[in-house]
Amino acid sequence: MSPNKKNFYVDERGAQEQHSDLDVRVDVAPKGRAFYITTTLPYVNAPLHMGHALELVRADIIARYKKLQNYDVFFNTGTDEHGKKNHEQAIEKGLKSQEFVDQGFLVFTEQLKMFGISDDVHFVRTTDKHHILSASEFWKLVKDNGYIYKKSYQAKYCIGCESEKTISELDEKGECILHPSRNLELIDEENYFFKFSEFGDKLLKFYKKNQNFIIPDFRLNEMKNFIKNGLQDFSISRLKTKMPWGIEVPDDKDHVMYVWFDALTNYISTLGWPDNLENFEKYWVNGNPTQYCGKDNTRFQGVMWQAMLMAANLPNSHQVVVNGFITGEGGARMSKTTGNVVDPRDIVKEYSVDALRFFLAKEISNFEDSPFTIERFKESYNSGLANGLGNLASRILTLSEKYLEKCPEIPKNTIPQEFFDFLEKFEIKQATDYIWDKIGELDKFIQNNEPFKVVKTDQEKGKELISKIVIDLYQITRMLNPIMPETNIMLKKLIKENKKPEKPLFLRKD
Ligand SMILES: [Zn+2]
Repeated sequence: MSPNKKNFYVDERGAQEQHSDLDVRVDVAPKGRAFYITTTLPYVNAPLHMGHALELVRADIIARYKKLQNYDVFFNTGTDEHGKKNHEQAIEKGLKSQEFVDQGFLVFTEQLKMFGISDDVHFVRTTDKHHILSASEFWKLVKDNGYIYKKSYQAKYCIGCESEKTISELDEKGECILHPSRNLELIDEENYFFKFSEFGDKLLKFYKKNQNFIIPDFRLNEMKNFIKNGLQDFSISRLKTKMPWGIEVPDDKDHVMYVWFDALTNYISTLGWPDNLENFEKYWVNGNPTQYCGKDNTRFQGVMWQAMLMAANLPNSHQVVVNGFITGEGGARMSKTTGNVVDPRDIVKEYSVDALRFFLAKEISNFEDSPFTIERFKESYNSGLANGLGNLASRILTLSEKYLEKCPEIPKNTIPQEFFDFLEKFEIKQATDYIWDKIGELDKFIQNNEPFKVVKTDQEKGKELISKIVIDLYQITRMLNPIMPETNIMLKKLIKENKKPEKPLFLRKD
């Protein structure tokens, strides 16, 4: 490592602990400095798909990376639980709406296990008592500041999408393109509106000051253009008689909040706002609040929510990071009819949680659309994991178990700055490629130096070579911490115990 690169002090706290790769970056993150990251909240009524996997795994990787740098991390996810669709499905199943979403929430937390999400993730539910209070307080603030008003409203509404449809979003029969069999609902009522139109200039000024506010920059440009075309006030309530399952509008029992003031406020209600201002101050005001989302959510997270925060006189988010979509081969939309859907459950069942995370980190573009097909997955799994990392680890540990009395002393060493630099920019693919470059280099070193032969003719020299490759393997393993946490722990344990794996770490699949 060149002398001008920063070194990281590694504090080993035992192989079983998640933080055993803790790198105290004293100059950058004094102990206790806060970082906040959140995913969007999926609807509670549908199983999680590969797009959710991508968003949750990516946010988890960044959360774990920040922990490696000694940040005190608040990682938020949860479920969006109100709305007509949940209400209707509850009725179909003969359940109360609350019972229905309670079940959905349990399923959600169960499903999260297949993504290997950090144990200390925080869950917010939009039916939580505190969230309801928080959303109401937020509404009142914005109303008191003069940004909420009532007017009559006509629209066509698709319950399948839980959103209103403009003519351009309907097919030639006047039906929703995504839900042609569902009847559109005609809305003709008085609604509350948010004065979104007043925030165009403020938002543009804000983006100018915060050039990296939306990552990648082409998404930021899209939003700038969207704003330049003129912002329309949007509807934020529904008549309770038509949508009974929602948060009541403060001081108006006839209305419930529609989506935005209910769902988007979760990002601060999860911190206990407005009661727990200490927590809010720590993580939202000073914790660089970072929001991961898919590209269909850019407008909600990066524009609408930011205008709402401005209207409430609260600090804006720090960054919004936008993923592309996961597609089938050739960029085709994943759909049951095409039969090109890859279910994360199947991947985890057949391979492993870490194999899924590996693919999402290494083979899916950081910000563009990317295909996830079984063929691609298998190829990458076999070359990167079975023949790559797995084979390398097994060769090295077989040698060390045979020729070394114990694990060589692991230096209090470093994770290279380059690796962290990629993660700092949310370039998870490059960070993962960096690890696999190191794996390739170590492979080549073994080929060129043949420690397995040397040790038979010159034992001392051979042992030295084997010690070196064990230490190198350990360094590589440290970098797996945010990306493949299970493998990180398992491999470090094997190296420390100087044991070869009893079975292949990643079984080759044909
Ligand atoms: Zn629809």
